[in-house]
Amino acid sequence: MEDGQRTQGSRRYVPPGRSFGPQQLDFPPVRNGIDYLASVVEHLDEAVSDVSARDLKYAVLHLQAAAEVLLKARLLREHWSLVFKDPGRASRESYEKADFESCGTSAALERLRDIAGIRFDGKEIQALSALAADRNALQHYGLTHNAAAVEARAGRVLDFLMRFLDKELLPLLSGSEREVATRDMAPVVEGVKNISSYVQRRSNRLRGELKGMEKSTIQCPECEQMTLVVAPGGGLCHFCGESWPSGYELANDYWLNNSATWGRPCPQCDDRTLTEGVIFADRAEADDALYCFTCTARYTSRELIPCAGCSRSWPIEAVVEGVDAPLCPDCYEQTEPEDVA
Ligand SMILES: [Zn+2]
Ligand SMILES: [Zn+2]
Ligand SMILES: [Zn+2]
Repeated sequence: MEDGQRTQGSRRYVPPGRSFGPQQLDFPPVRNGIDYLASVVEHLDEAVSDVSARDLKYAVLHLQAAAEVLLKARLLREHWSLVFKDPGRASRESYEKADFESCGTSAALERLRDIAGIRFDGKEIQALSALAADRNALQHYGLTHNAAAVEARAGRVLDFLMRFLDKELLPLLSGSEREVATRDMAPVVEGVKNISSYVQRRSNRLRGELKGMEKSTIQCPECEQMTLVVAPGGGLCHFCGESWPSGYELANDYWLNNSATWGRPCPQCDDRTLTEGVIFADRAEADDALYCFTCTARYTSRELIPCAGCSRSWPIEAVVEGVDAPLCPDCYEQTEPEDVA
């Protein structure tokens, strides 16, 4: 405070020779973001009341607002021009008048990663973009999606923002600003415990109910709980209730959500839904399972061998040793006459 002053009637610290500076802008957006989070928690706290469709709607809208405000608050710390949609065209004047188009959530994440060196994992980025999609859908059509899945997704973003605040924002505040922010955060931290313990309780209970089905239980692409029981031609998630009408659609959704590869023809049913990297509850640590979402055939990578003729994967025991390479029964049959001749 030695080289600065406080303006009369204002809590904002103004350094000498500068009327308005980005450093001073950290705090209001952080408080604003925490206020949005407090609203999210009020709406989602099961200990207060059941979560209605309306609660979920405002939770998602305010969560998205919190994400935008908090990510930008951290960007401001790097440079004020970074919150512009196009930083190359940023002007101090329009910034001070708050008259500009600002960058979206995904641009903010990219800039935080590239410029501030903040690391986000793929799941966090995915959760934020899923939330943005939920927000748009809710804003235009109301709640048409599965409420439990929307809630679970919102919980993940909430979790991410709490950590982001704790690690990336609160340490940048000092003195009374930090105290105020920490005080504002206290009820949010409490409320989040209720929300996550609710999700945790529910998924623990389901784990009990799904006991014995671990061999066919995978992570749900919709709510990301390990509660999707697969069956020939699809599956049903016991946490969010989502079901899939075909193995193809489930394979597609699973692939979008996981580091899996799919599109291989299945040795058993021929459908192109054999997917590599499917993680099952019975072997949660292994990611070498190949699973066919159409016929439920399941292999490990060691049990399959590519045919030298058609390059398709085949179970080792079905492959025939050809003249100089392993061949599948089909390819072997086709080459046989030539080999003989
Ligand atoms: Zn689910
Ligand atoms: Zn199959
Ligand atoms: Zn072949």
